[in-house]
Amino acid sequence: MSLPSATAYDLVVIGSGPTGSTYVREVYDQHATARILLLDAGPRLTDPPGTHVKNIPDPGQRARAQRDSEGPGPAGRPGTRLLGAPELPAAALSTNVGGMGAHWTGACPRPGDGERIGFIPDAEMDAHLTRAEQLLHVDAHAFDHAPFADEVRRRLSALLDPARPAHRRVAPMPLAVTTRSDGAHVWSGTDVVLGGAGADERVEIADRCLGLRVVMDGDTATGVVVRDVVTDEETTVAARAVVVAADALRTPQLLHASGIRPPALGRYLNDQPQIVYAVRLPDDVVAAHRAVTGRTRDEDGAIVPQSGVSWVPYTDAHPFHGQVMQLDASPVPLAGDIDVEPGTVVGLGWFCAKDITPDDRIEFTDTAADAYGLPAMRIHYRYSDRDLATIEQAKKAVAEAGAAVGIPLDDSPLLLPAGSSLHYQGTTRMGPVDDGTSVCDSHSRVWNTRGLWVAGNNVIPTATACNPTLTSVALAVRGAHALLDHLASMAERRI
Ligand code: FAD
Repeated sequence: MSLPSATAYDLVVIGSGPTGSTYVREVYDQHATARILLLDAGPRLTDPPGTHVKNIPDPGQRARAQRDSEGPGPAGRPGTRLLGAPELPAAALSTNVGGMGAHWTGACPRPGDGERIGFIPDAEMDAHLTRAEQLLHVDAHAFDHAPFADEVRRRLSALLDPARPAHRRVAPMPLAVTTRSDGAHVWSGTDVVLGGAGADERVEIADRCLGLRVVMDGDTATGVVVRDVVTDEETTVAARAVVVAADALRTPQLLHASGIRPPALGRYLNDQPQIVYAVRLPDDVVAAHRAVTGRTRDEDGAIVPQSGVSWVPYTDAHPFHGQVMQLDASPVPLAGDIDVEPGTVVGLGWFCAKDITPDDRIEFTDTAADAYGLPAMRIHYRYSDRDLATIEQAKKAVAEAGAAVGIPLDDSPLLLPAGSSLHYQGTTRMGPVDDGTSVCDSHSRVWNTRGLWVAGNNVIPTATACNPTLTSVALAVRGAHALLDHLASMAERRI
């Protein structure tokens, strides 16, 4: 792809992950004539653009698509490159059309209790979450037949549900996946979010095009400077509205590069400490389950690697989000010649809500540049005493949950390196008022600007423990309503 074909658009969105794509889709659906430019610094991997790489059937092509998404620097999990910050050693980014949404696991739990945003009315947020579930094709029943999933949930429920309200009990994990009529699963990437917008000429997707900075005329965003990362050519496109949806690290970076530097920019960085533990269903339980269900090993449904098949929702009383996966092989060597039946090895991941502080932050410098020529980042990040106490509590909680499910395979629960959850958030967070502790309002409009929105996990102001994408897509739905109002008011002024 070369530089954008036109010089002016109604909307320019920088970053084509799930949140940027949500703005495109909502504006496309609700504004009959809007011309939209969607920029991404990375390559287009698939046709249609933004397809989840798990849906690429050929393993060689899939591996190539993952490599092409990694960008410059040391590789992280497939499809990502490591940020390379010692304070957040596992933090990683994807650079491709679809963003991390082409690589994600698709777990889409709704936030609850203290994860919710107090200054957005519940009914409004619930409506946004419902729309986000539609956009991402979320289904909680795609793996109802996964072997032993009901047994695992029954055991977790017995331990955890008695004190919980009905809507926060142990449940199948809502996943962004569609089950085809032949039973095959299709994972939601941003092709699903974009829908018809991805193929319409009103929407232009410019890949390998870096947003270098947002052009401001006083307090008003009027366009974007774009660089073709292959040829290094640059151009400026005009826009009536700009959305920066370039992930929780690069969104504040782009605002900084554009001279938009509110005090909270890059601060309140939080990633969810993640504890893992593995157990095995006892043999007598496996045999009894087979006797009750009458199903043989061959009749069982498929196990999907790395899928959160079951969900332990966050509550204020149990302040962890539990993602429970069932594996078809043991992650650790087992003694003797134990025959592991698919689904009987259970990986429990407990995610904690981080203690949020402005001191955890990304510092940008004007005197050094990253591989894309944007301001270099330095991460400041530490676990507070409260975090260390939460992590100990989570280890205890996951060990208890593991013991309820089966026989431990690990000596003790393990804290993964900081950044592992890939759920970093908060760096352009929203707030109810402009008091210096937030970057945008509850509609994701950057304070004291006009025509400029931010999107991504970076706008989430609370310390969530659950996987955040559903929440940030819901907040993008909310922001898009305000953006549509902005476009409508500009049109009225022109008349
Ligand atoms: P991203 O998807 O990160 O997209 C940002 C895009 O911006 C990228 O494509 C990037 O190339 C582009 N960009 C950046 N800077 C610029 C620039 N200057 N100019 C142009 N383009 C730019 N979340 C969940 O909720 N549930 C899960 O189960 C889950 N599992 C995950 C598993 C894996 C392996 C990974 C990698 C992530 C997972 N996540 C999960 C995280 C989830 O994918 C992210 O929360 C989500 O993709 C964030 O969406 P986004 O639109 O904000 O940003």
